[in-house]
Amino acid sequence: MLPIDEARRTVFDRCAVLPTVSINVHDATRSVLAIDAIATEDVPPFANTAVDGYAVRAADSAGASSASVRLRVTGEIAAGAAGDMTVEPGTAVRIMTGAPMPRGADAVVMVEDTVFNGDRARFDGSESVEIRREVATGSGVRGAGDDVRVGTIVFTAGTEITPAVAGVLASINVREPRVVKRPRVAVLSTGDELVDDGSPLAPGQIRESNKTMLIGAVDASGAIAVDYGIVRDDEAALEQTLRLAAAECDAIVTSGGVSMGDYDVVKVVLSRIADMTWMQIAIKPAKPFAFGLLMRREGGSVPVFGLPGNPVSSLVSFELIARPALRKMAGHRPEVWDRPHVRAVCDVELTRSPDGKVHYQRAVARFADDGRLHVTPVSAQGSHQLAATALATAILVVPDGSGVPVGGEVDAILLVS
Ligand code: AMP
Ligand code: MG
Repeated sequence: MLPIDEARRTVFDRCAVLPTVSINVHDATRSVLAIDAIATEDVPPFANTAVDGYAVRAADSAGASSASVRLRVTGEIAAGAAGDMTVEPGTAVRIMTGAPMPRGADAVVMVEDTVFNGDRARFDGSESVEIRREVATGSGVRGAGDDVRVGTIVFTAGTEITPAVAGVLASINVREPRVVKRPRVAVLSTGDELVDDGSPLAPGQIRESNKTMLIGAVDASGAIAVDYGIVRDDEAALEQTLRLAAAECDAIVTSGGVSMGDYDVVKVVLSRIADMTWMQIAIKPAKPFAFGLLMRREGGSVPVFGLPGNPVSSLVSFELIARPALRKMAGHRPEVWDRPHVRAVCDVELTRSPDGKVHYQRAVARFADDGRLHVTPVSAQGSHQLAATALATAILVVPDGSGVPVGGEVDAILLVS
């Protein structure tokens, strides 16, 4: 049996980062930047007010916290206005959040600390404002470049474009960021027994679950899942679907047909048409795993991840091997190929016996009052018992041996991104 780390290395080494493309920043969330993003403008582009209030000369507010100070109001500046005004000593300009600071002013007194005298609807030059708080120079003002300074590298290549990163790119006018192509991943399940059209089950049939699950898992990894349906245990049909998927997608994920059964046609077909490694990995669940490269007719090759059919095995091998490989292809940094790991405290004994394998037990994790993560295995650990696994929020890495006692520590893979 192959150690899991070796299996992972073999797979990752053969999955290349995809080419780069330019996309609209509005569609860029979840992609990974292919080049550094450098600011060609200051953000904000001009000094502006952080509050609604009155732009003043800070010196004019001296003493205002104890005795009232009155300033003549010479006008107003709204956000979006050019703000082409000057605050002379003894005067103030009413100003709205985001509006540019008028010349001469170096602070803003927030409206809550003022009392206006006059009629704002009919400005006639007699208006004044009572200032009730002394302000320091710069108070209430956001300087030009406070957020992003022109010329700086805001994000380096390899940064994932989260919604906030996309917002920053828009703010520095990067309208078409260069990104690594997000992998399009063909997902298909195989098996004569599978039904997914809602029809009554004939004897021997079961309802399909893996493809539905894996489409979601691919999507959650940041890649784009493409549904290639259920393929029957028929060599010609499978070859046709795989070749189509290879032509249209960047990777292929199959489930079922990779173990030792007589009808494991995935094994038969992929052995013939792709450069495959058939693995027996020293883990439980998900011992059988297939990985290879399927040559495209038009050149190049597409990684194929052959996951086992048992639903829990399918999920665990996706998490341990396919997910990080897809994230590598998508341009993510190695430190985020995997989900976060953390040492956790076992609230229940983790039972197992030595068998040369690392066991991946599914568990529910919660932070307790001691500030530590505590874990309890879900109620059923069979590789066919997806319902119990579906409620897991962590996968526990239980090393070969005789388990972990209550209160003992275990590595927990958190099922959050
Ligand atoms: P296989 O790996 O094809 O030998 O399948 C192993 C077990 O997983 C069998 O009990 C299959 O019926 C089941 N199985 C395979 N594919 C799926 C699927 N897509 N959804 C649900 N169960 C499946
Ligand atoms: Mg099968």
